[in-house]
Amino acid sequence: MRASFTIGRIAQVRVGVHWSVLFIFALIVWGLAQGRFPAAHPGREPVLYWVAGLATAVVFFLSLLAHELAHAVVARRNGVEVDDIVLWLLGGAARLHSEAPKPAAELRIAGVGPLVSLVLGGVFALTAWLLILADAPGLLAEAVVWLAAINILLAVFNAIPAAPLDGGRLLRAVLWWRTGDRLRATAGATAAGRGFGWLLVALGLLVFLRTGSFGGLWLGLIGWFLVAAATAEGRQAQLRGVLAGVPVRQAMTQDPVTVPAGVTVAYFLADPRYRYRHSAFPAVEGDRPVGLMTLDRARAVPEDRRGVVRVGEVMAPLSEVTVVGPDDPLADLLPRMEAGADHKVLVTDAGGRLVGMVSSSDVSRTVTWLMSADSNRRPPRWG
Ligand SMILES: [Zn+2]
Repeated sequence: MRASFTIGRIAQVRVGVHWSVLFIFALIVWGLAQGRFPAAHPGREPVLYWVAGLATAVVFFLSLLAHELAHAVVARRNGVEVDDIVLWLLGGAARLHSEAPKPAAELRIAGVGPLVSLVLGGVFALTAWLLILADAPGLLAEAVVWLAAINILLAVFNAIPAAPLDGGRLLRAVLWWRTGDRLRATAGATAAGRGFGWLLVALGLLVFLRTGSFGGLWLGLIGWFLVAAATAEGRQAQLRGVLAGVPVRQAMTQDPVTVPAGVTVAYFLADPRYRYRHSAFPAVEGDRPVGLMTLDRARAVPEDRRGVVRVGEVMAPLSEVTVVGPDDPLADLLPRMEAGADHKVLVTDAGGRLVGMVSSSDVSRTVTWLMSADSNRRPPRWG
Protein backbone atom coordinates (compact mmCIF):
# COMPACT_ATOMS: atom_id res chain seq x y z
CA MET A 1 0.00 0.00 0.00
CA ARG A 2 1.63 3.23 -1.14
CA ALA A 3 0.85 6.56 0.47
CA SER A 4 -1.31 9.00 -1.51
CA PHE A 5 0.15 11.96 0.34
CA THR A 6 2.73 12.59 3.05
CA ILE A 7 1.65 14.39 6.21
CA GLY A 8 5.12 14.84 7.70
CA ARG A 9 7.94 13.19 9.59
CA ILE A 10 7.88 11.91 13.15
CA ALA A 11 11.10 10.58 14.75
CA GLN A 12 12.64 10.87 11.25
CA VAL A 13 10.07 8.47 9.81
CA ARG A 14 7.97 9.67 6.89
CA VAL A 15 4.28 9.34 7.69
CA GLY A 16 1.92 8.99 4.73
CA VAL A 17 -1.79 8.57 4.31
CA HIS A 18 -3.59 6.51 1.68
CA TRP A 19 -6.86 8.03 0.46
CA SER A 20 -8.83 5.01 1.72
CA VAL A 21 -8.17 6.19 5.29
CA LEU A 22 -10.70 8.99 4.73
CA PHE A 23 -13.39 6.36 4.22
CA ILE A 24 -12.73 4.55 7.49
CA PHE A 25 -12.28 7.88 9.31
CA ALA A 26 -15.68 9.08 8.09
CA LEU A 27 -17.21 5.73 9.02
CA ILE A 28 -15.90 5.97 12.60
CA VAL A 29 -17.01 9.60 13.05
CA TRP A 30 -20.44 8.76 11.66
CA GLY A 31 -20.79 5.58 13.74
CA LEU A 32 -19.94 7.41 16.95
CA ALA A 33 -21.86 10.64 16.31
CA GLN A 34 -25.00 8.96 14.95
CA GLY A 35 -24.90 5.63 16.78
CA ARG A 36 -22.98 5.01 19.93
CA PHE A 37 -22.94 8.50 21.50
CA PRO A 38 -26.63 9.43 21.11
CA ALA A 39 -27.62 5.91 22.18
CA ALA A 40 -25.61 6.13 25.40
CA HIS A 41 -26.32 9.78 26.20
CA PRO A 42 -29.46 10.96 24.41
CA GLY A 43 -30.82 14.48 24.30
CA ARG A 44 -27.67 16.52 23.67
CA GLU A 45 -27.10 19.08 20.94
CA PRO A 46 -26.41 17.20 17.64
CA VAL A 47 -23.30 19.28 17.01
CA LEU A 48 -21.87 18.02 20.30
CA TYR A 49 -22.09 14.41 19.07
CA TRP A 50 -20.27 15.32 15.85
CA VAL A 51 -17.49 17.21 17.67
CA ALA A 52 -17.04 14.31 20.11
CA GLY A 53 -17.03 11.79 17.24
CA LEU A 54 -14.46 13.79 15.29
CA ALA A 55 -12.16 14.25 18.30
CA THR A 56 -12.42 10.55 19.21
CA ALA A 57 -11.59 9.46 15.65
CA VAL A 58 -8.54 11.76 15.61
CA VAL A 59 -7.26 10.29 18.90
CA PHE A 60 -7.92 6.79 17.50
CA PHE A 61 -5.72 7.50 14.47
CA LEU A 62 -3.03 8.95 16.75
CA SER A 63 -3.11 5.66 18.71
CA LEU A 64 -2.75 3.75 15.44
CA LEU A 65 0.19 5.97 14.52
CA ALA A 66 1.82 5.31 17.92
CA HIS A 67 1.52 1.55 17.25
CA GLU A 68 3.21 1.86 13.84
CA LEU A 69 5.84 4.33 15.08
CA ALA A 70 6.80 1.83 17.78
CA HIS A 71 7.43 -0.79 15.05
CA ALA A 72 9.50 1.74 13.08
CA VAL A 73 11.63 2.98 15.99
CA VAL A 74 12.39 -0.53 17.29
CA ALA A 75 13.16 -1.69 13.73
CA ARG A 76 15.70 1.07 13.33
CA ARG A 77 17.26 0.27 16.73
CA ASN A 78 17.70 -3.28 15.45
CA GLY A 79 19.47 -2.17 12.30
CA VAL A 80 16.48 -2.38 9.93
CA GLU A 81 15.86 0.74 7.84
CA VAL A 82 12.27 2.00 7.65
CA ASP A 83 10.84 3.26 4.35
CA ASP A 84 7.78 4.94 5.81
CA ILE A 85 4.53 4.50 7.70
CA VAL A 86 1.28 4.43 5.74
CA LEU A 87 -2.17 4.72 7.26
CA TRP A 88 -4.91 3.16 5.15
CA LEU A 89 -8.29 1.46 5.09
CA LEU A 90 -7.48 -1.41 7.45
CA GLY A 91 -5.19 0.43 9.84
CA GLY A 92 -1.53 1.22 9.46
CA ALA A 93 1.62 -0.34 8.12
CA ALA A 94 5.25 0.43 8.86
CA ARG A 95 7.11 -0.50 5.70
CA LEU A 96 10.53 -1.92 6.47
CA HIS A 97 13.36 -1.67 3.99
CA SER A 98 14.61 -5.19 4.62
CA GLU A 99 13.98 -8.17 6.87
CA ALA A 100 15.04 -8.45 10.49
CA PRO A 101 18.55 -9.89 10.78
CA LYS A 102 17.76 -12.30 13.63
CA PRO A 103 14.71 -13.98 15.22
CA ALA A 104 15.19 -11.94 18.41
CA ALA A 105 15.11 -8.68 16.42
CA GLU A 106 11.98 -9.82 14.57
CA LEU A 107 10.37 -10.67 17.91
CA ARG A 108 11.08 -7.19 19.30
CA ILE A 109 10.00 -5.33 16.14
CA ALA A 110 6.72 -7.25 15.82
CA GLY A 111 5.94 -7.46 19.53
CA VAL A 112 6.24 -3.78 20.39
CA GLY A 113 3.21 -2.75 18.27
CA PRO A 114 0.54 -4.77 20.10
CA LEU A 115 2.31 -3.92 23.36
CA VAL A 116 1.93 -0.18 22.69
CA SER A 117 -1.76 -0.66 21.79
CA LEU A 118 -2.30 -2.66 24.97
CA VAL A 119 -0.60 -0.02 27.13
CA LEU A 120 -2.64 2.74 25.42
CA GLY A 121 -5.80 0.69 26.04
CA GLY A 122 -4.85 0.40 29.71
CA VAL A 123 -4.13 4.12 30.03
CA PHE A 124 -7.49 5.00 28.39
CA ALA A 125 -9.30 2.49 30.64
CA LEU A 126 -7.72 4.02 33.72
CA THR A 127 -8.57 7.53 32.50
CA ALA A 128 -12.16 6.50 31.85
CA TRP A 129 -12.45 5.05 35.33
CA LEU A 130 -11.10 8.29 36.88
CA LEU A 131 -13.45 10.38 34.71
CA ILE A 132 -16.45 8.35 35.83
CA LEU A 133 -15.36 8.62 39.48
CA ALA A 134 -14.96 12.39 39.07
CA ASP A 135 -18.46 12.69 37.52
CA ALA A 136 -17.02 14.14 34.30
CA PRO A 137 -19.39 14.81 31.34
CA GLY A 138 -20.84 11.47 30.20
CA LEU A 139 -19.95 11.97 26.54
CA LEU A 140 -16.26 12.46 27.39
CA ALA A 141 -16.14 9.31 29.52
CA GLU A 142 -17.99 7.39 26.76
CA ALA A 143 -15.38 8.49 24.20
CA VAL A 144 -12.48 7.42 26.42
CA VAL A 145 -14.15 4.06 27.13
CA TRP A 146 -14.47 3.51 23.36
CA LEU A 147 -10.79 4.42 22.86
CA ALA A 148 -9.77 1.96 25.59
CA ALA A 149 -11.84 -0.82 23.99
CA ILE A 150 -10.64 -0.19 20.42
CA ASN A 151 -6.96 -0.11 21.46
CA ILE A 152 -7.27 -3.36 23.41
CA LEU A 153 -9.12 -4.90 20.45
CA LEU A 154 -6.32 -3.70 18.16
CA ALA A 155 -3.70 -5.29 20.43
CA VAL A 156 -5.57 -8.61 20.63
CA PHE A 157 -6.41 -8.81 16.90
CA ASN A 158 -2.84 -7.99 15.91
CA ALA A 159 -1.47 -10.62 18.27
CA ILE A 160 -3.30 -13.45 16.46
CA PRO A 161 -0.53 -15.70 15.10
CA ALA A 162 -1.32 -15.30 11.40
CA ALA A 163 0.85 -13.46 8.85
CA PRO A 164 0.81 -10.58 7.93
CA LEU A 165 -0.50 -9.61 11.39
CA ASP A 166 2.08 -8.80 14.08
CA GLY A 167 1.27 -12.14 15.73
CA GLY A 168 2.19 -13.86 12.45
CA ARG A 169 5.61 -12.21 12.61
CA LEU A 170 5.96 -13.36 16.22
CA LEU A 171 5.07 -16.90 15.12
CA ARG A 172 7.62 -16.66 12.32
CA ALA A 173 10.29 -15.43 14.74
CA VAL A 174 9.64 -18.37 17.06
CA LEU A 175 9.64 -20.93 14.19
CA TRP A 176 12.77 -19.33 12.78
CA TRP A 177 14.47 -19.49 16.18
CA ARG A 178 13.40 -23.13 16.71
CA THR A 179 14.30 -24.44 13.23
CA GLY A 180 17.02 -21.99 12.19
CA ASP A 181 15.27 -21.88 8.80
CA ARG A 182 13.76 -18.51 7.93
CA LEU A 183 12.06 -19.77 4.78
CA ARG A 184 10.26 -22.61 6.51
CA ALA A 185 9.28 -20.24 9.30
CA THR A 186 7.77 -17.86 6.75
CA ALA A 187 5.93 -20.73 5.05
CA GLY A 188 4.42 -21.70 8.42
CA ALA A 189 3.37 -18.17 9.35
CA THR A 190 1.86 -17.43 5.94
CA ALA A 191 -0.03 -20.74 5.92
CA ALA A 192 -1.50 -19.76 9.28
CA GLY A 193 -2.32 -16.35 7.78
CA ARG A 194 -4.22 -17.88 4.86
CA GLY A 195 -6.09 -20.25 7.18
CA PHE A 196 -7.14 -17.48 9.52
CA GLY A 197 -8.06 -15.23 6.59
CA TRP A 198 -10.40 -17.85 5.08
CA LEU A 199 -11.91 -18.41 8.52
CA LEU A 200 -12.76 -14.68 8.72
CA VAL A 201 -14.20 -14.74 5.19
CA ALA A 202 -16.45 -17.69 6.10
CA LEU A 203 -17.45 -16.13 9.42
CA GLY A 204 -18.14 -12.77 7.77
CA LEU A 205 -20.35 -14.38 5.10
CA LEU A 206 -22.22 -16.35 7.75
CA VAL A 207 -22.85 -13.23 9.84
CA PHE A 208 -23.96 -11.31 6.74
CA LEU A 209 -26.34 -14.05 5.56
CA ARG A 210 -27.83 -14.55 9.03
CA THR A 211 -28.20 -10.91 10.10
CA GLY A 212 -27.65 -8.88 6.91
CA SER A 213 -25.30 -6.67 8.91
CA PHE A 214 -22.59 -4.55 7.35
CA GLY A 215 -20.16 -5.79 10.02
CA GLY A 216 -20.20 -9.24 8.44
CA LEU A 217 -19.11 -7.88 5.08
CA TRP A 218 -16.41 -5.86 6.79
CA LEU A 219 -15.09 -8.98 8.55
CA GLY A 220 -15.10 -10.83 5.23
CA LEU A 221 -13.18 -8.00 3.59
CA ILE A 222 -10.50 -8.06 6.31
CA GLY A 223 -10.26 -11.86 5.91
CA TRP A 224 -9.91 -11.53 2.13
CA PHE A 225 -7.17 -8.95 2.58
CA LEU A 226 -5.31 -11.25 5.00
CA VAL A 227 -5.49 -14.17 2.54
CA ALA A 228 -4.11 -11.99 -0.28
CA ALA A 229 -1.35 -10.47 1.85
CA ALA A 230 -0.29 -13.83 3.32
CA THR A 231 -0.20 -15.38 -0.16
CA ALA A 232 1.93 -12.52 -1.51
CA GLU A 233 4.27 -12.76 1.45
CA GLY A 234 4.63 -16.52 1.00
CA ARG A 235 5.41 -16.11 -2.70
CA GLN A 236 7.97 -13.45 -1.95
CA ALA A 237 9.64 -15.71 0.62
CA GLN A 238 9.82 -18.44 -2.03
CA LEU A 239 11.48 -15.99 -4.43
CA ARG A 240 13.90 -14.98 -1.71
CA GLY A 241 14.84 -18.62 -1.38
CA VAL A 242 15.49 -18.92 -5.12
CA LEU A 243 17.51 -15.69 -5.15
CA ALA A 244 19.54 -16.47 -2.02
CA GLY A 245 23.17 -15.54 -2.55
CA VAL A 246 22.58 -13.94 -5.97
CA PRO A 247 24.11 -10.44 -6.23
CA VAL A 248 22.47 -7.52 -8.04
CA ARG A 249 25.15 -7.61 -10.74
CA GLN A 250 23.87 -10.97 -12.00
CA ALA A 251 20.49 -9.49 -12.95
CA MET A 252 21.35 -5.92 -13.91
CA THR A 253 21.53 -4.48 -17.41
CA GLN A 254 25.10 -3.26 -17.74
CA ASP A 255 25.91 0.22 -18.99
CA PRO A 256 22.30 1.24 -19.63
CA VAL A 257 21.42 3.99 -22.10
CA THR A 258 21.51 7.25 -20.13
CA VAL A 259 20.12 10.71 -20.76
CA PRO A 260 22.04 13.89 -19.82
CA ALA A 261 20.02 15.90 -17.27
CA GLY A 262 20.76 19.08 -19.25
CA VAL A 263 18.97 18.16 -22.52
CA THR A 264 15.44 19.32 -23.21
CA VAL A 265 12.38 17.11 -22.96
CA ALA A 266 11.80 17.62 -26.71
CA TYR A 267 15.28 16.24 -27.45
CA PHE A 268 14.66 13.29 -25.12
CA LEU A 269 11.38 12.44 -26.83
CA ALA A 270 12.77 12.85 -30.37
CA ASP A 271 15.95 10.78 -29.97
CA PRO A 272 15.30 7.24 -31.26
CA ARG A 273 17.58 5.77 -28.59
CA TYR A 274 14.99 6.72 -26.00
CA ARG A 275 11.88 5.99 -27.96
CA TYR A 276 11.70 2.29 -28.46
CA ARG A 277 13.84 0.29 -26.09
CA HIS A 278 12.80 1.10 -22.54
CA SER A 279 10.41 3.29 -20.60
CA ALA A 280 12.90 4.69 -18.07
CA PHE A 281 16.48 5.94 -18.29
CA PRO A 282 19.06 7.04 -15.72
CA ALA A 283 19.56 10.81 -15.95
CA VAL A 284 23.23 11.73 -15.55
CA GLU A 285 25.59 14.63 -15.12
CA GLY A 286 28.93 13.35 -16.44
CA ASP A 287 29.12 9.75 -15.21
CA ARG A 288 27.11 10.50 -12.03
CA PRO A 289 23.45 9.52 -11.90
CA VAL A 290 21.22 12.36 -10.69
CA GLY A 291 17.79 10.82 -11.20
CA LEU A 292 15.53 8.67 -13.31
CA MET A 293 13.74 9.95 -16.43
CA THR A 294 10.66 8.19 -17.78
CA LEU A 295 8.73 8.59 -21.00
CA ASP A 296 5.59 9.18 -18.91
CA ARG A 297 7.19 12.13 -17.16
CA ALA A 298 8.34 13.57 -20.49
CA ARG A 299 4.88 13.20 -22.07
CA ALA A 300 3.32 14.92 -19.05
CA VAL A 301 5.10 18.15 -20.04
CA PRO A 302 2.78 20.31 -22.21
CA GLU A 303 3.85 20.16 -25.85
CA ASP A 304 4.65 23.87 -26.15
CA ARG A 305 6.95 23.67 -23.12
CA ARG A 306 8.98 20.62 -24.19
CA GLY A 307 11.55 22.77 -26.03
CA VAL A 308 12.51 24.70 -22.87
CA VAL A 309 11.95 22.31 -19.97
CA ARG A 310 15.03 20.20 -19.23
CA VAL A 311 15.13 16.55 -18.21
CA GLY A 312 16.69 17.55 -14.84
CA GLU A 313 13.55 19.55 -13.99
CA VAL A 314 10.99 16.76 -14.46
CA MET A 315 12.94 13.57 -13.70
CA ALA A 316 12.44 11.61 -10.47
CA PRO A 317 15.31 12.94 -8.31
CA LEU A 318 17.83 10.49 -6.89
CA SER A 319 16.20 10.75 -3.45
CA GLU A 320 13.10 9.04 -4.87
CA VAL A 321 15.01 6.33 -6.72
CA THR A 322 16.35 3.12 -5.22
CA VAL A 323 20.13 2.96 -5.60
CA VAL A 324 22.11 -0.18 -4.74
CA GLY A 325 25.60 -1.59 -5.15
CA PRO A 326 26.41 -4.39 -7.65
CA ASP A 327 27.22 -6.82 -4.82
CA ASP A 328 24.08 -6.15 -2.75
CA PRO A 329 21.73 -9.15 -2.47
CA LEU A 330 19.18 -9.15 -5.29
CA ALA A 331 16.58 -10.58 -2.90
CA ASP A 332 16.57 -7.28 -0.95
CA LEU A 333 15.13 -5.54 -4.02
CA LEU A 334 12.02 -7.77 -4.14
CA PRO A 335 9.79 -5.71 -1.84
CA ARG A 336 10.58 -2.62 -3.91
CA MET A 337 10.09 -4.15 -7.34
CA GLU A 338 6.32 -4.55 -6.99
CA ALA A 339 5.62 -0.92 -7.71
CA GLY A 340 5.05 -1.61 -11.40
CA ALA A 341 6.79 -2.06 -14.69
CA ASP A 342 8.21 1.46 -14.62
CA HIS A 343 10.01 0.94 -11.36
CA LYS A 344 13.75 0.77 -11.90
CA VAL A 345 16.70 0.43 -9.58
CA LEU A 346 20.00 2.14 -10.32
CA VAL A 347 23.26 0.34 -9.60
CA THR A 348 26.35 2.39 -8.73
CA ASP A 349 29.87 1.38 -7.77
CA ALA A 350 31.64 2.45 -4.57
CA GLY A 351 32.65 5.72 -6.25
CA GLY A 352 29.03 6.61 -7.06
CA ARG A 353 29.41 5.98 -10.81
CA LEU A 354 26.54 4.36 -12.68
CA VAL A 355 27.28 0.75 -13.64
CA GLY A 356 23.84 -0.69 -14.33
CA MET A 357 20.08 -0.71 -13.92
CA VAL A 358 17.63 -3.36 -12.73
CA SER A 359 13.98 -3.59 -13.78
CA SER A 360 11.33 -5.97 -12.52
CA SER A 361 11.59 -7.91 -15.79
CA ASP A 362 15.35 -8.32 -15.17
CA VAL A 363 14.51 -9.84 -11.79
CA SER A 364 11.82 -12.18 -13.13
CA ARG A 365 14.11 -13.28 -15.96
CA THR A 366 16.80 -14.14 -13.40
CA VAL A 367 14.27 -16.02 -11.26
CA THR A 368 13.05 -18.04 -14.27
CA TRP A 369 16.62 -18.80 -15.26
CA LEU A 370 17.63 -19.89 -11.74
CA MET A 371 14.54 -22.08 -11.37
CA SER A 372 15.12 -23.87 -14.68
CA ALA A 373 18.81 -24.26 -13.83
CA ASP A 374 17.69 -25.71 -10.52
CA SER A 375 15.37 -28.25 -12.14
CA ASN A 376 18.11 -29.24 -14.60
CA ARG A 377 20.39 -30.02 -11.71
CA ARG A 378 17.95 -32.53 -10.27
CA PRO A 379 18.79 -36.16 -11.04
CA PRO A 380 16.64 -37.67 -13.81
CA ARG A 381 13.81 -39.88 -12.70
CA TRP A 382 13.11 -43.19 -14.32
CA GLY A 383 9.69 -44.73 -14.72
ZN1 LIG B 1 1.58 -3.77 14.25
